[in-house]
Amino acid sequence: MKSKKLTIVGGGITGLSAAFFAQRAMPEAQITVLESNGLWGGVLQTESAEGYLIEHSADMFTTDPRSAIKICEHLGKTDELLQTIPIDDRAYVATDETIHPVPRGLSLMLPSDLDSILATPLLSAAAKDRFQAEEQIAPSDWTQDESLISFATRRFGREVYETLIQPLVGGIYTADPEKLSMQATMARFVAMEKQHGSLIQAGRVAKEKAIQREASGARYGMFRAPRQGISELVRWIMESLPKVDFQNHSNVDSVAKVTSGWQITTGGSDSKPGQKIETERLVLATSAKVSGRFLQSVDAELAKELGKIEAASSAVVILGIDRDQLGQDFSGYGIIVPSVLNRDVIATSFGSNKFEGRAPDGKVLVRCFVGGALRRELVELDDEKLIEMAIEELQRTVGFQGEPGLTRVIRWRNCMPQYHLGHRDLVDGIEELTANHQGLELAGNSYRGVGIPACIESGAMAVERLMAE
Ligand SMILES: Cc1cc2nc3c(=O)[nH]c(=O)nc-3n(C[C@H](O)[C@H](O)[C@H](O)COP(=O)(O)OP(=O)(O)OC[C@H]3O[C@@H](n4cnc5c(N)ncnc54)[C@H](O)[C@@H]3O)c2cc1C
Repeated sequence: MKSKKLTIVGGGITGLSAAFFAQRAMPEAQITVLESNGLWGGVLQTESAEGYLIEHSADMFTTDPRSAIKICEHLGKTDELLQTIPIDDRAYVATDETIHPVPRGLSLMLPSDLDSILATPLLSAAAKDRFQAEEQIAPSDWTQDESLISFATRRFGREVYETLIQPLVGGIYTADPEKLSMQATMARFVAMEKQHGSLIQAGRVAKEKAIQREASGARYGMFRAPRQGISELVRWIMESLPKVDFQNHSNVDSVAKVTSGWQITTGGSDSKPGQKIETERLVLATSAKVSGRFLQSVDAELAKELGKIEAASSAVVILGIDRDQLGQDFSGYGIIVPSVLNRDVIATSFGSNKFEGRAPDGKVLVRCFVGGALRRELVELDDEKLIEMAIEELQRTVGFQGEPGLTRVIRWRNCMPQYHLGHRDLVDGIEELTANHQGLELAGNSYRGVGIPACIESGAMAVERLMAE
């Protein structure tokens, strides 16, 4: 393996992490990364404009699991990481009329402060009674997967699901809750139900152990972002790999098995002629659908299974506004919108309330998320219409007045993998089929986690499996 050739297709965080771990594990190997775009980092793109630091997709990563923070440690960059601003470290929930904070201590579905839930004006008295009855609900035997909607309504009742759980989870997965797999996306809650019989009890235990942080909504205290934006992570990794051959504008068309291992064919473009590359080892760090297309003539069954992993699209509408254009002072991290309200925006994130240096003094950087699995048609609306929707949402939630100074619309088509019921078994099967092909590995956000740490881990595991061959 030592001096062999390794080619990685896809220059997103997964492919770059695979290159990082491969370089460490096999310093003699010739490593090439092929990326179809001109830019590196896949969906991770930071733009600087008019004093704003604008994230086109992810704006932070969690420190649990530790893979992202660990890679920053390896790179000696932890001093360059920002923690979130602690002023009002929580998310708010929109109602028809106003917004209210997510009850303190509620981490997606883990309640660690019952008083705060019982006090929230977001829920009716009947919903609070039903919530408290969660402790009496028998746990599932988990002989089969369960959807988010089924799990959450079974445990907490419909109103708690619709008002709190759906928007909290929807903001992360932009998924159809009828199809979203609990086992593939929220295995920790499955494990808590199995272990404690109830999530209220699990929350009590977590609180006792002081594991649960005192923040509402997502666990913001565990989030980090590079000072100069998420693209720094991409740059740090690439700069640490001077021997790796990074080839952008290299759009892979197909892969084939040859006696020496694998042959990759890239399509030509005006700026670069097509080429055929032979390699002993191959990591496909593209989406499952794209990797399936590459493998069609190599293994039709594997290609078919990969094709089953669907991806949703979303649009990010970015607005730069003056703080005094807000009708009320708002220093929360974001506002989530329950889908029962039938509004166009899924969630609004206030980037400059989360991290320093995201907006000039007196300005606010806002990002509104539109589309997802349930409203994919919205992504194709023109920029003007999408900006109008975002402005309307801000008018409703925080009394925004006037026009934004800066606007951007970013569309991510088929970039949000959907972990449907049975996803874990599907991925187990895909990995078994992949193991039939020596020197081939699949990695990326389509399989075992969509967050940046999971993608880094996926790149690391692909290299580990190659080393074990
Ligand atoms: C709007 C949005 C917000 C998000 N927010 C967060 C967040 O706050 N925190 C977090 O942890 N995660 C977040 N995520 C998720 C996370 O950013 C992604 O899951 C992760 O970056 C995906 O990395 P990847 O390398 O697996 O895939 P990608 O970034 O999609 O990279 C795949 C690469 O393959 C290349 N490619 C495709 N086809 C070919 C081909 N034929 N030949 C060569 N190359 C090809 C693509 O150009 C691309 O560069 C967010 C995602 C989105 C879309």
